[in-house]
Amino acid sequence: MRDVVVAGPGEVFDVELDADLMRENERLARENADLLERHDVNAIDIMGSIGSGKTSLLGQMVRRLKKKCRIAVLEGDLTTTIDSDLIAKHGVKTVQINTGKECHLDANLVKKALMKIDLAAVDLLFIENVGNLICPAEFPLGSQKRIVVVSVTEGPYMVVKHPFTFSGADVVVVNKIDLARAMKVSIGKIERDIKRINSRVQIVRTNCRSGEGVAKVIEALGIEQLIGAI
Ligand code: MG
Ligand code: ZN
Repeated sequence: MRDVVVAGPGEVFDVELDADLMRENERLARENADLLERHDVNAIDIMGSIGSGKTSLLGQMVRRLKKKCRIAVLEGDLTTTIDSDLIAKHGVKTVQINTGKECHLDANLVKKALMKIDLAAVDLLFIENVGNLICPAEFPLGSQKRIVVVSVTEGPYMVVKHPFTFSGADVVVVNKIDLARAMKVSIGKIERDIKRINSRVQIVRTNCRSGEGVAKVIEALGIEQLIGAI
């Protein structure tokens, strides 16, 4: 016999559910969006679990786009600079945001990081969130588009267990498709789960290690059109 306890509104002691804080974050996100727009910066943020392949995808996109436009990257992480060191090797301006204990970026941290960038010299900004599929979705940062990366190695239930994150995405990247057979995971099933939550989202299959599918992610985001207009 199975029992289920369901948390009601405000029943979990979680600062993230504080309505005032959420409103303040939304206000700061709008400020960031205005600031970016004033400088003609196109901003895209990337969410996904630890190890899903966010940094690999970012590295692949930066490699393909850095000669076509001026790129800057914000890297969210609790304490390390592993990812920002990897991205900085591509020769693009990179700012590490260390959140300490916090499991997501918020608009205030992004605002602080933006002050370290000469926005007049940037056309395209990528923001990699802290590896986490839950709360980053609740904190808009001021970007225009959101990518969610999910890999087949996370198992078959990643999408249905995190509907909120997928409902807010513009593009979902299904990564590590080369490992689907070994993981006994159906990519088609993952895609159907995503479409059920978010029927307008674009889904792209990738192997971000080899680069397969990355050009399609760039296409799905409309980046070439954006930078074509610069
Ligand atoms: Mg990363
Ligand atoms: Zn969090």
